[in-house]
Amino acid sequence: MLDVKRNALRELPIKERLTTFKETTFTYDDETAIKEAKRCHKCKNAPCAKGCPVGVDIPGFISKIACHDFDSAALILKSVNALPSICGRVCPQEEQCEKFCVKCKANREAVATGRLERFIGDYLLNKGNLPKASSVVSTKTSKIAVIGSGPASLSCANDCAMAGLDVTVFESLHSPGGVLTYGIPEFRLPKDLVNAEIESLKNIGVKIKVNYLIGKTLFFKELVEQYNAVFIGTGAGLPKFLGIEGEELNGVYSANEYLTRTNLMKAYSTNSQTPIVKHKNVIVLGGGNVAFDAARTALRLGTESTILAYRRGHNELRARHEEIVHAQQEGVQIKTLIAPVKIVSTDGVNVTSVEFVRSELSEPDSSGRRGFTLIPNSNFEIACDATIVAIGTNPNPLIKGGFDGLITDSRGCIPVDSNFKTNLDTVYAGGDATTGSATVISAMGAGKKAAASIIARFAN
Ligand SMILES: Cc1cc2nc3c(=O)[nH]c(=O)nc-3n(C[C@H](O)[C@H](O)[C@H](O)COP(=O)(O)OP(=O)(O)OC[C@H]3O[C@@H](n4cnc5c(N)ncnc54)[C@H](O)[C@@H]3O)c2cc1C
Repeated sequence: MLDVKRNALRELPIKERLTTFKETTFTYDDETAIKEAKRCHKCKNAPCAKGCPVGVDIPGFISKIACHDFDSAALILKSVNALPSICGRVCPQEEQCEKFCVKCKANREAVATGRLERFIGDYLLNKGNLPKASSVVSTKTSKIAVIGSGPASLSCANDCAMAGLDVTVFESLHSPGGVLTYGIPEFRLPKDLVNAEIESLKNIGVKIKVNYLIGKTLFFKELVEQYNAVFIGTGAGLPKFLGIEGEELNGVYSANEYLTRTNLMKAYSTNSQTPIVKHKNVIVLGGGNVAFDAARTALRLGTESTILAYRRGHNELRARHEEIVHAQQEGVQIKTLIAPVKIVSTDGVNVTSVEFVRSELSEPDSSGRRGFTLIPNSNFEIACDATIVAIGTNPNPLIKGGFDGLITDSRGCIPVDSNFKTNLDTVYAGGDATTGSATVISAMGAGKKAAASIIARFAN
């Protein structure tokens, strides 16, 4: 029997998913991981690795799993990826490593690299004995300040600390992790696990100071003066809105607010100090991971109906395939080719429906993505008592005014050169703050590259 299919992940029964924020899928057990690893052809030219923004030696770590040597697999993985349990869960592997797996050419399913990465990441965390941690000591005098604690910052901090630099991370929120902590829900990325990965950074000497809003609590200029180098990884946390009538009504949320209330402030627990109104009929506007996370969160908070409305077609949805499948299994109704034109209230205070107009797909743009046009006179309304807007984010506007001398572009992003250096001599930047909203792994890749530049210059 040919190994056409990859080994599936065990999933929580749908009924249980809807009443809990527990993780939807389970990590492979040892036997399944070994079986999956044995599907890998160990290609010499490793096309899969070329699709990885942080350069994991994919056949290398998978071949170690195949021969039951999990410690060696962990060493290979952890040597370039500070957050394997996280990446194994949320990276869009289908667009990166797995897309280039040779198996796909032979009409077989790609080796499940992400699931194997998650397996080894969890193995390490369960073992509680992280490789190299004890052998790293701050040996250099150079001090590095890292602003923000999302994946870009964490991977920059990790590599700088591993090179012996003295690293301090400043985070504005009361918990570190960036979107990993406040954005991506528990059912996709358990927070215990994020905290454990962050603990492993503390093991190697990274200091993390929370409740420090740089530009307000502490001036950016002071950091630049007091530290040899500064890395800015402040992300893109400013929600975009549609600019349509009714967005100011009660019951209209940005996905950021909705998800932060549930993830960071645990609004779903009975004793949360920032509870969230229990809505019955929720409409989420958008088609990416953020929209699906908001819709699946709404379901778990007890909605009677949750609709995800997207102005392009099903094929154009930007969320991960796995997340779309899970959302459909759980009962999210996906309505495509409809664009919101107005948020309606019958009492002038609370949202009562969204008015849509039907759309149709148009020719693909230069990126190959199909656009859409609105169909005149096709308006209709869908009733709801809450609307969640999940159409993207921009960089935090504070960096524009509060970070003296730092140049930003028209979108508020920080331009960087090939060394990830900004216009300021000792200031580097990476992640969503430089690109706009992107992915965990691209942020980590940027953090790593910036760290390499910082290390080359300051770790002598
Ligand atoms: C709901 C949601 C789901 C997502 N799902 C996925 C997914 O499945 N897969 C994927 O690859 N990507 C996903 N993404 C995108 C991904 O999470 C981001 O691209 C990534 O987190 C960007 O990392 P970052 O380090 O640049 O910034 P962030 O993760 O945004 O972290 C920035 C941090 O900087 C802090 N900060 C900001 N300003 C200051 C300041 N002045 N002083 C101190 N601290 C500051 C913020 O509080 C924040 O903690 C998702 C995003 C969201 C919102």
